[in-house]
Amino acid sequence: MESLDELLLKAEAAHGHMCAGQILGVRMAVLGLKRLGIEDPRGADRKRLVTYVEIDRCATDAIGLVTGCRLGKRTLKFRDWGKMAATFVDLASGRGVRIVALEDSRDLARKLYPHIEGKAQQQMLAYRELPDEQLFSEQRVRVKVDPAELPGHRGDRFLCPRCGEGVNFGRFAEVDGERLCLSCAQPELRHWVPDETKP
Ligand SMILES: [Zn+2]
Ligand SMILES: [Zn+2]
Repeated sequence: MESLDELLLKAEAAHGHMCAGQILGVRMAVLGLKRLGIEDPRGADRKRLVTYVEIDRCATDAIGLVTGCRLGKRTLKFRDWGKMAATFVDLASGRGVRIVALEDSRDLARKLYPHIEGKAQQQMLAYRELPDEQLFSEQRVRVKVDPAELPGHRGDRFLCPRCGEGVNFGRFAEVDGERLCLSCAQPELRHWVPDETKP
């Protein structure tokens, strides 16, 4: 595994800027991998790891960078819970570790560096230096990843009779005896409405 500095340089380049979230995310991922004994997540160990993130902010990019887990590889799972937390899972054993950034680390940053101007600068310095146990809480967990959620899973594909769109991996709901895609089964959950105005 690269050094913290090397990982931070890569994270900065991939994310577009350096920020407290990059430092927190990189350190969270490094700690998770260490706990699982995974040393080469983007190389030899790349098929062993799945990561669940619970927030879609800066740190998420850093976690993806360090672990090599990505949405497009089906190895990065997003749970929209608004928590600065991630669960790293070793598929080989089903064992995982869920790591949460401690809420009081911001106050700690302010207390440590009162002479530094700006919260972001204070946090970046503190998040680099503070020991893991002052930044994170961690819990050993077991995770059963649904086979349909695993990378490389091949499942049936069906055509939704209502919208005519193809759907992968058994994502459908029965409505009045009809098998519909999730967007037709629950239109209220759609992120869009048709735009009826003329272009
Ligand atoms: Zn950022
Ligand atoms: Zn449909």
